[in-house]
Amino acid sequence: MVDAVVVGAGPNGLAAAIELARNGRSVHLIEGQDSVGGGTRTAELTLPGFRHDICSAVHPLAVGSPFLRTLPLGEHGLELIEPSVQAAHPLGDGTAAVLMRSLEETADSLGADARAYRSLMGTFASHWDRLAEFVLAPLTRPPHAPLLAARFGSRGALPATLVARARFRTPHGRALLAGMAAHSMRPLEAPGTTAFALVMLSLGHACGWPIARGGSGEITLAMARHLESLGGTIELGRPVSALAELPEARAVLFDVTPRQLLEICGEELPRRYSRSLARFRYGPGVFKIDYALSGPVPWTAPAVRAAGTVHLGGTLEEIAASEKAVNRGEVSQAPYVLVAQQSLDDAARAPAGQHTLWAYCHVPNGSSVDMTEAIERQIERFAPGFRDLVLARETRSPRQLEAENPNYVGGDIGGGATSLWQTVARPALRANPYQTANRRILICSASTPPGGGVHGMCGFHAARAALRGPLR
Ligand SMILES: Cc1cc2nc3c(=O)[nH]c(=O)nc-3n(C[C@H](O)[C@H](O)[C@H](O)COP(=O)(O)OP(=O)(O)OC[C@H]3O[C@@H](n4cnc5c(N)ncnc54)[C@H](O)[C@@H]3O)c2cc1C
Repeated sequence: MVDAVVVGAGPNGLAAAIELARNGRSVHLIEGQDSVGGGTRTAELTLPGFRHDICSAVHPLAVGSPFLRTLPLGEHGLELIEPSVQAAHPLGDGTAAVLMRSLEETADSLGADARAYRSLMGTFASHWDRLAEFVLAPLTRPPHAPLLAARFGSRGALPATLVARARFRTPHGRALLAGMAAHSMRPLEAPGTTAFALVMLSLGHACGWPIARGGSGEITLAMARHLESLGGTIELGRPVSALAELPEARAVLFDVTPRQLLEICGEELPRRYSRSLARFRYGPGVFKIDYALSGPVPWTAPAVRAAGTVHLGGTLEEIAASEKAVNRGEVSQAPYVLVAQQSLDDAARAPAGQHTLWAYCHVPNGSSVDMTEAIERQIERFAPGFRDLVLARETRSPRQLEAENPNYVGGDIGGGATSLWQTVARPALRANPYQTANRRILICSASTPPGGGVHGMCGFHAARAALRGPLR
């Protein structure tokens, strides 16, 4: 019998297994796919020699993660590369708002909004470590830095549209905030959306928005190697459909969402808890395209040509309209598009002189609409001539994403909707959200706090809960 079985080798399952193993517990990790990584894997999806990030691409949350920072992932082959422009947001007039590593440079680039930017972001950007202690943890835990938490809460709780209009006068300042807030996948008029922008911008200044040399998969491969060096074992190609299939263990940690947890362990969970899991809501889905290109994207705005990440969609009003449509269950014909240009800074991603491009937009959960034309129209709008460079493309609809990874229910890449209620009660309202109502069973996926992203913090907190609980 092992101390713990972990089901699912995404960044959170790996993080949970590592935290248990480094605390002396025996751990066996079981993954349904033939490779580790979940949403953090890389493959040649289009043409030979073009390496694409299948899901996650840009890693501010990994480099800013209080847990991942403690792991010797460099010794296991991981190298992070920071672009010279962390993120850019082109406007229709050939200019762009930019997120630079330096707060001063970012503020200065916003012209008349320089002071407003410094005043909004200064404190958060210079205190990321203390901010991370509560934004990357369950909200039910009292913060160590109550004043900082109060400052963050009073601003973050507001709708992004309100903060953008109240604080900024230029289209650049407003669009920059909108593009960051839209990572929430919620209408920008919704309370709490500013918190997403504050976190993304703070990370940009404090930690950068890096990519992994060779591909995002190198992050989870390094985690898997580290786990094995600690004595943990990994079994691939074994999708789990019932608790009874698992080896005997004192605790089982599931890197799955509530829907799968109910399918796998329903019989073992008290009815009241199962009912609250059944009420868990999933958010919008995504439609993704990976490109092999014959050259770099000819962005009109020069700053965008050096950016690791690009937010497309234009003004605050345009982005708010597209996110509102998606949350109403409609497809936006002028979508907010997230783009990553990994091959600009990492020669390992494409043959010499050629490039990869990673792009996705938000769509209603489970949508079957092909967004290729709408996404390419947005890229062409800010980079005329883009289409002439396309050597090959591969698209992924919400249904395809879910077929490849059951955690992406209806194409929701964040493990569940980010409504205010599900920020507090994720996956259900409990003092310890990782511990289910069955003491032996824990949940450690992005459906627990702090939610989606490659930070491993859900897995870390779940492992700590197991160490305080069944593995004590
Ligand atoms: C298109 C896309 C773009 C993204 N971009 C970014 C980004 O740039 N930066 C960022 O930080 N995050 C990004 N994300 C989000 C990030 O990938 C996820 O939030 C993160 O991977 C969640 O980690 P996890 O361990 O909770 O789940 P996952 O990574 O989804 O891993 C779950 C694992 O469990 C396995 N599994 C599930 N059910 C079973 C079962 N029954 N039996 C056995 N194994 C099972 C799955 O196969 C999978 O390997 C993106 C995601 C997608 C899809």
